Amino acid sequence: MPIHLNYQGTVCQKCGAEFIAHGKNCSCPACGQTTDDFCDFAAETIATMKDHKQLYGNYFPQSWFSGSIADTVQGIIFELFDNYEAENPEDFTAFVLTQLADAVWEEGREHLAIQVEGIALEVFNIYRQDPDFKGDALKAKPINPKLKDIQPKPSDTPIDIDSAAGF
Ligand SMILES: [Zn+2]
Repeated sequence: MPIHLNYQGTVCQKCGAEFIAHGKNCSCPACGQTTDDFCDFAAETIATMKDHKQLYGNYFPQSWFSGSIADTVQGIIFELFDNYEAENPEDFTAFVLTQLADAVWEEGREHLAIQVEGIALEVFNIYRQDPDFKGDALKAKPINPKLKDIQPKPSDTPIDIDSAAGF
């Protein structure tokens, strides 16, 4: 199963916008209201990226159920880094802006554009310094090669909504 965070996202007490409280003393990107919520989102995302790469060969797993705003943002980050490695552009920031330029956000979620950009750069700062992401360390390797042949393909696995949503 793909790995989901326990953190579902933060709902602004003032305007109701959902966002990721990825910094300490974070404020709502839609209205500026402060929150006490905090999730070390970049570090958690890096950990999940490593697991997914080993399990699936990509950061974005074969199936990804978005049960929360945190899932949605993580899914975008996974895809971004898969594309980054495929294209290997020189300038990461410019690449992120290009990738997000055509994104269409749900109504009321437009503020996520700036959040995703900030989170992508935070993740990249860890990523580029982490030796696990260099060379072949994270090439897909089955956890138990003997079991691999008898396991159903991930795409044939029905989505378990309860556990996928982190309940
Ligand atoms: Zn707000």
